[in-house]
Amino acid sequence: MTLPMEIDQLLDDEACWRIVLAKDRRFDGAFVLGVHSTGIYCRPSCPARLPKRENVRFYAGNEEAEAAGLRPCLRCRPDSVTREEEAVARAITMLRDAAEPVPLARLAEATGYSPSHFQRLFKRAVGLSPASFARALRMERAEDALSAGDTVTDAIYDSGFGASSRFYEASEGRLGMTPSAWRDGGRGATIRWAIVPTSLGKMLVAATEKGVCRLSFNEGSAELAARFPNAELIEGGERFAGLLAEVMAAIEQPGDSRHIPLDVQGTAFQEAVWRELRRIPPGETRSYAEIAAAIGKPGAVRAAGSANGANNVAVLIPCHRVIRSDGSLGGYAYGEDIKRELLRREGSHTKL
Ligand SMILES: [Zn+2]
Repeated sequence: MTLPMEIDQLLDDEACWRIVLAKDRRFDGAFVLGVHSTGIYCRPSCPARLPKRENVRFYAGNEEAEAAGLRPCLRCRPDSVTREEEAVARAITMLRDAAEPVPLARLAEATGYSPSHFQRLFKRAVGLSPASFARALRMERAEDALSAGDTVTDAIYDSGFGASSRFYEASEGRLGMTPSAWRDGGRGATIRWAIVPTSLGKMLVAATEKGVCRLSFNEGSAELAARFPNAELIEGGERFAGLLAEVMAAIEQPGDSRHIPLDVQGTAFQEAVWRELRRIPPGETRSYAEIAAAIGKPGAVRAAGSANGANNVAVLIPCHRVIRSDGSLGGYAYGEDIKRELLRREGSHTKL
């Protein structure tokens, strides 16, 4: 799926240039600037002399800049990790390796920051507080243990949850999203799929045993196979019929569809964005800037847009509820007509 057009419109070139003029460190990581006269790219806060505006182009990240033939700047080192990034990486390792919950104070001490400062910088980098991140890790471990055949109780205790009720509270907090056990193009997963006619056009629905893993419009089985090249794909089937009916109802009579289980895979940041999208009630909309702020990463407007674009499950992860800050529609992976119609059905008041 290509990224929706609206990312660039939300943190547009003019806004990026203003940030560069201000050398605003808060936006380091949100984008880089390419200086095409010298062939390098920089963090927004680069201390080197300001390039001429006409030689500058903005990129969402290092990969994009390098794909455009640019090299990282030796002054601001956009390709190297900062002390803050190092601290976050260190904390993530501690959380991953720990058998028991690690208090914030210990993370802060180990990384040389005050607890409140560390809490902020971790959340800015990861999109979750250290405590939420640790909870997500424990969830993942519990699920891995379950799929390896442990009993529920063993899995819960082994993964560091003190009481099973907390496991279910934490599950609830994920809003029905299961971090998928599959990796590597769906290796080891069985995916059932169907293409059904809807009032919005042909809809592809695909699901693993855990939940819906792909929902898209005007796509065929070839695209599904390209997305999950190593999964076993099975068309239709009785086990799939109930879920399919629920999904179709959610399309035709939109409302709160959060009871429909999803099976998605993303980075911690992407999953934070997707969870936030699922929190937008039907009939309401948000801007990318609001989504980025809601997950504690106000500088990551473009990255939030990219995460939105990487959404595999249209409608059920309601990326259509994100519109431009001026209230106009913005883009949509399956065309603005479908986005407009979905919002109209939900009763959103936008400049349609
Ligand atoms: Zn630089």
